[in-house]
Amino acid sequence: MGHTKRVKEAGRYGSRYGSTVRKRVLKILSERHSRTVCAGCGKSVLMRRISVGVWECPSCGYTYAGPAHTPKS
Ligand SMILES: [Zn+2]
Repeated sequence: MGHTKRVKEAGRYGSRYGSTVRKRVLKILSERHSRTVCAGCGKSVLMRRISVGVWECPSCGYTYAGPAHTPKS
C-alpha cells in the first residue's frame, strides 16, 4: 500500500491501468495535497473535499464546486 517506485502514491494501483494512466493519477493526487488560494478569504489553504467536486475552505468555510478529484479550478 502506498508509495512505490516511479509513480509514488499512484503505486497503490499496482500494475493496473497502465503506467501512463498512473502518472496522470499521480498528478491528480499530488494536486490534491497542494495548497489552493481560497476565492472566499484569499488565503492559501488546503481545501477539504466534502463530496465529489465539492470543496470547502477550512479557514472561512467557503464552499465551491470544482473538479472531482483536485481542488484546483
Ligand atoms: Zn477561505
